[in-house]
Amino acid sequence: MNKPTNQTAFKAVDILWDDIDTVMLDMDGTLLDKYFDDYFWEKYVPQVYGRKHNLSPEQAEEALLAKYRSVESTLQWTDLHYWTKRLGLDIIALKQEIDHLIGVHDHVVDFLQHIRSTQKKLCLITNAHPKTLEIKLAKTGIGHFFEVMICADEIGFAKEQVEFWHGLEKILSYDKRRALFADDTEKVLRAANQYGMGHLLHIAKPSSQLPTRHSGDFPSVAHFGEIILP
Ligand SMILES: [Mg+2]
Repeated sequence: MNKPTNQTAFKAVDILWDDIDTVMLDMDGTLLDKYFDDYFWEKYVPQVYGRKHNLSPEQAEEALLAKYRSVESTLQWTDLHYWTKRLGLDIIALKQEIDHLIGVHDHVVDFLQHIRSTQKKLCLITNAHPKTLEIKLAKTGIGHFFEVMICADEIGFAKEQVEFWHGLEKILSYDKRRALFADDTEKVLRAANQYGMGHLLHIAKPSSQLPTRHSGDFPSVAHFGEIILP
């Protein structure tokens, strides 16, 4: 029998909305189900790679994991052209083959609609490669909610690097003390915190297929339905 793993009590996070005029949101895991990305890199790519090199699924997964780890938290990790070259596979085509797995988390559309109805500026801030962003927006239709969408690629650093945040300030006009940034990766939130972002929020359930894991360091919710809205 499957025991439910997501038994965290409802704990609404009271954000100081009057102190916030820019809302910045990560995409994968925060707005969209990270199951797509996990499945793609951990299962689908190894399957195709294994077939090409005559490896068992386990051997292929192990070989690829080592390659992924070598560029973790860098821009190369999300660079589809880098992986196309390094693995000899058409990564963009492979993503499109399973794009039916791309999904928006519950409560996200309501949250985006609500923020748009306020005077606050709404921005998408992602490490995703521009081509991945294009595939995901085509599938989910959430792009129209955002005034600005920034890929880390444009800045030249990943969000885990504090340089990203200083670079962002140069191309996006906003007051960091009056900005809220939400992300499912604590390492990213730590870099944003180090930079001086005024308000931070952690998303504790990035994938529909994995249990909720709250952060001990940042205000943390499983989904946007737990947030008290402005
Ligand atoms: Mg994320």
